[in-house]
This record gives sequence, structure tokens and C-alpha cells, in this order.
Amino acid sequence: MDVKETVVIIVGAGPSGLATAACLKAQSIPYMILERENCFASLWKHKSYDRLHLHLAKQFCQLPFMSFPKSSPTFVPKKEFLQYLDDYVTHFAINPLYQRLVVSAFYNESLGKWNVKATNGVSGELEEYISRFLVVATGVTCDAYIPKVEGLSKFAGDVIHSTQYKSGGIYENQHVLVVGSGNSGMEIAFDLANHGAKASIVVRSPVHVLSRGMVYWGLKLLNYFPYYIVDSLMVLLSKIKYGDLSKYGICRPQEGPFSLKVKYGKFPVIDVGTCSKIKSGEIQVLPGLRSIGETEVIFEDGRSYPFDSIIFATGFTRSTKAWLKGDEYLLNDDGLPKPEFPNHWKGEKGLYCVGLARRGLYGAAMDAQNVANDINNLV
Ligand SMILES: Cc1cc2nc3c(=O)[nH]c(=O)nc-3n(C[C@H](O)[C@H](O)[C@H](O)COP(=O)(O)OP(=O)(O)OC[C@H]3O[C@@H](n4cnc5c(N)ncnc54)[C@H](O)[C@@H]3O)c2cc1C
Repeated sequence: MDVKETVVIIVGAGPSGLATAACLKAQSIPYMILERENCFASLWKHKSYDRLHLHLAKQFCQLPFMSFPKSSPTFVPKKEFLQYLDDYVTHFAINPLYQRLVVSAFYNESLGKWNVKATNGVSGELEEYISRFLVVATGVTCDAYIPKVEGLSKFAGDVIHSTQYKSGGIYENQHVLVVGSGNSGMEIAFDLANHGAKASIVVRSPVHVLSRGMVYWGLKLLNYFPYYIVDSLMVLLSKIKYGDLSKYGICRPQEGPFSLKVKYGKFPVIDVGTCSKIKSGEIQVLPGLRSIGETEVIFEDGRSYPFDSIIFATGFTRSTKAWLKGDEYLLNDDGLPKPEFPNHWKGEKGLYCVGLARRGLYGAAMDAQNVANDINNLV
């Protein structure tokens, strides 16, 4: 087998992998990117809905060494974000090796190097790569997750994950249930209602609902004030703007939105118009699922309704531990960093991770710079 060797192997060509590549290039450190799909940023290109905009203002979403154009709106639409990534890849001459699904990586003690094996999606062959450093940039949103619900396999209608949802056009006049009340679920419910579907959304746990503007100012204020002050302000503003949403089935958590984000990686819902549709009755809020029949869904409170389609916006898992061997220090069984922020990006024996601390593109950009600087000190 032909073995290819480089200094750094990056697994994943999403924004985190691209940011790492640019930072390594700036320090003239050779690297290779192995990407399972046939393009970079596949999540943004193929696994996100049409109306998606960056949830956070553009200055919190740019990658190292390149700002968004001045002409870009504050909340960049998906199409412009993809243009930005295209420009980024061209500018830094980043050439990932596509259709390389990494299936194993272990540290070879006698060589003092990482041995990485990837399946070539075109030839079907297993390829071998060797490097002194290994960067895991496979994303928090690596593998779509649909929970096991009693009866789901018997449901006669369509069942998809939010990564397969593009637009509400095909759902006009259908009864559609969205399961999951994160940002994707809330925005998909809104999009469905806009397209004339009869949308319902399952909201099982308490969530903070904030506007884009509130999050924008909240993030700015965090530079000057502690979390608890900014959180109190956010909750007050949310109460003023949205009122008491508990009568519609949406309760506020006890802890503040930024504290929850930092402690548990739990995002507040950034409202794009869903709340007013909930208040007007265009979108129905329902509790957790109990079971699913051929045409109807039974909820925890005993109510049941018929649905034509179900969209699971129930998040993601990570399969990193299935291929990464011999790492007891950096990543837990769920593929998330074990060390606490801000030390989450560095493992042992030249192993690193970028973009896995649930701090969005801003956090990924910081990780990429830390990793490249650290490697530069060691080569
Ligand atoms: C709908 C949505 C909206 C978001 N909006 C924002 C926002 O506004 N602002 C913000 O900061 N963050 C946002 N995020 C969060 C986050 O910034 C994005 O998910 C971003 O794409 C993460 O980049 P990443 O490179 O870490 O992961 P990904 O984009 O998921 O890239 C990881 C790459 O690794 C590849 N890969 C995985 N496993 C393997 C393997 N075994 N072998 C080879 N390749 C592999 C994948 O194919 C993928 O291309 C959003 C997320 C979602 C889902």
C-alpha cells in the first residue's frame, strides 16, 4: 500500500478544518485534509435548509485572516456564507482530499507518528496516511440523530431529519410535526407555516427565546460584564418582547441563556418569527412524544393528532470514537472534548480538536489559531 506522509492531518473540511488549514499555511506547515464528502462545508452545501442565515452577526462568524465583505448583511444568508467559504478556500489554496472517509487513526509509538486509514469513496480502496500531528475537525454536527420512538417504523407518512429539509414548498396543506425546539426546529416550523403547511412543534424542555438583536448585544456586553448581569438583561428583554410564553407551552429555564450555553452548550432559540406564529395559533406547540401509530402521534399528555409527515430536528451525534483509537485524554465517548474550556483543543501525542467545544464558528476560529501556534512551536 502506498503510504502518504505529511506533518499535519486534518480530518474534516468544514469551516473548522478550513480555518485550521489557513492557520497552518500562514506558518508554512505542511498539511493534508481528509474529507468524507465530495466537497468542503458539506453541512452548509447539502444538509441545511434554503432560508438559513447565520444565526450570529457576521463578526462572530468569520474565519481567521479573512473578514466578510463590508457589503454583506449583519446576518449573512447561507448563499453568501458559501461564497465567503469559496473565496477562503481559493485565497488560501486549500485542496482537501475528498471522498476519504477516515475509518481508523492510532498513534504508532515506535514511529512517534499518527497512522490514519481512509476509505477512498471512488476506488473503494483503503488508503494509509502518516503524520506527526492529527487534528479532529469532524464537527459537533457530524451524524444526524433521530431518537427511538415507539411505533416510528410503522408510521405511514414521510419521516426525515432536519438535515434533509430544504423548504416548506412540498408540504402545503399537510399536517407536519416538527420534533425538537432548537434553532433548526423552530425555523423549520416557521418555514412550513409560511408555505401553507399546518405545522406543530414538540417543545419538551424549557428554552430561552431571544431575538437576533438581543444575542448580538448580549455577546458584545459579555466583553464588559459578567454572565449573570448579561443573562438578567437578556431575560428581561425577552419578557418584554415575547411576554409569558408558558401559556403557549414554552417555559423559560431557571439559568440564564449565556450561562446555559457556556456550561452545557445549550443554545437559546433565536426567534426568526416563529413566536408570533405560535401566538396567532398558526403553529401548535405540543409536549414530548409518547408513541407513533400508522397515521397519528400520541403525546405525553395523552393527546393525539394525525400527521402526514414528521421532521426530526433532534440534533446530532459524533462517531469519532469509532475510528480514533488510543485517545483517553482529549475526547469523551460522545466525541466532545474532555478538558474544560479554554484547554479543550489540545490532547496528547500531537492530537488536537477544532470546533468541538460548541462555541460556533468563533470558537472554531480560536481553536484553529491555538492549534497552529502550538504545532508551530513543536516542529
Ligand atoms: C443549521 C445550523 C446553523 C448554524 N449557524 C451557525 C451560526 O450562525 N454561527 C455559528 O457560529 N455557528 C453556527 N452553526 C454551528 C457550526 O458553526 C456549524 O455547524 C459549522 O458548520 C461547524 O463547522 P465544523 O467544520 O466544525 O463542522 P462541519 O461543518 O460539520 O464539518 C465537519 C466535516 O467533517 C467531515 N467528516 C466527519 N467525519 C469524517 C470522517 N470520519 N472522515 C472524513 N471526514 C469526516 C464532514 O463530512 C464535514 O464536512 C450552525 C449549525 C447548524 C447545523
